[in-house]
Amino acid sequence: MIITHARVQTIRLPAVEPLAGGPVAPGASRDIVTLTLGTDDGIEGIGLTYYGGFYGGPVIASLTSMVEQLSALVIGMDPLRIEAVIGKLRLLSGNLGPGGVFAHAIAAIDIALWDIKGKATNLSLAKLVGGHRDRVVTYASGALMRGYTNEHCAKAAPKLVEKGFRQMKMQLALPGNTNPLREVERARLIREAIGPDIDLMCDVNQHWSVHQAIDIGKRIEDVHLYWIEDVTAHDDFAGLARVADALSTPVAGGEYAYGAVPFRHMLEARSVDIAMIDLMRAGGITPWLKIAGMCEAFNVAVVSHVLPELHVHLIAGIPNGLTVEYIAWSLPLWEEIPVMAKGELVVPEKPGLGLTFNREIIRRYGVV
Ligand SMILES: [Mg+2]
Repeated sequence: MIITHARVQTIRLPAVEPLAGGPVAPGASRDIVTLTLGTDDGIEGIGLTYYGGFYGGPVIASLTSMVEQLSALVIGMDPLRIEAVIGKLRLLSGNLGPGGVFAHAIAAIDIALWDIKGKATNLSLAKLVGGHRDRVVTYASGALMRGYTNEHCAKAAPKLVEKGFRQMKMQLALPGNTNPLREVERARLIREAIGPDIDLMCDVNQHWSVHQAIDIGKRIEDVHLYWIEDVTAHDDFAGLARVADALSTPVAGGEYAYGAVPFRHMLEARSVDIAMIDLMRAGGITPWLKIAGMCEAFNVAVVSHVLPELHVHLIAGIPNGLTVEYIAWSLPLWEEIPVMAKGELVVPEKPGLGLTFNREIIRRYGVV
């Protein structure tokens, strides 16, 4: 089998927050680059990519262009030799990476190759990568954002429980100057709104100093967070380790790291108790799996970052997969999405990613 053609399309989806109906800035969009790789066997693999948080906006064209240029270089290659394809792309692009636009672009190609591999072997991605379980717990994310009011969050959090979620994530580092008392108030308010039996995570998105993370982290230990995420600069491995040591709450991090090597340093320094791997910054499924294996060797669980429809396979496939972030930003792209039952995602059985682009959505929101 050889790769015969590639189609690249940028999609600009309107931003929505469907989980609890939170407000969205007028005109906000989620920008995604889609890729289809065709083969002489008739099998087509699909991939996609985006910048962090899908906020491509004014610079998405650079990513589209990079995906187009790299995918043109794989025509004529055997799609099942994934390491050979990726190795060639690294070489021909002057060993760009592991970071920046290159990581995001090569991720789309790597994902499409895994989809082809699944379809060629008639195996779901979850089975291809290990098949550890057939259901995986998922947490609601994107509904309790730091920009929302206390009043909105107090109403939104119980709505997520009503929808069947047993886990959900809030954000701290509220807008304005950091005030520990306001941070504590928000955390307690959400915990009171959902009761003691729901797992509650909290994302700080690197906004605090090490000192603030220890101070506020200690003040909210009675909220019993399931984890606290990206408490300070993601590459301050020693600073993160100080926070992880000081708190009984597990510290999660990793979504901002490019490639596999930073995870080595993070794990060796014991900077994180839970590793969050971003599929795009990692550079695709191939490095994602290598990072997950490294985490297993360090007794560290792995969680996913956005894109639940794809990560359900990866988190379910590996033995140290903990939970899938359920954020709805990319879900309108697909004909069909994984089923959720009692707060768990049922792992799809279809070959490969088990996903098909929704042609109507692609037509309507495709950027010309
Ligand atoms: Mg995060």
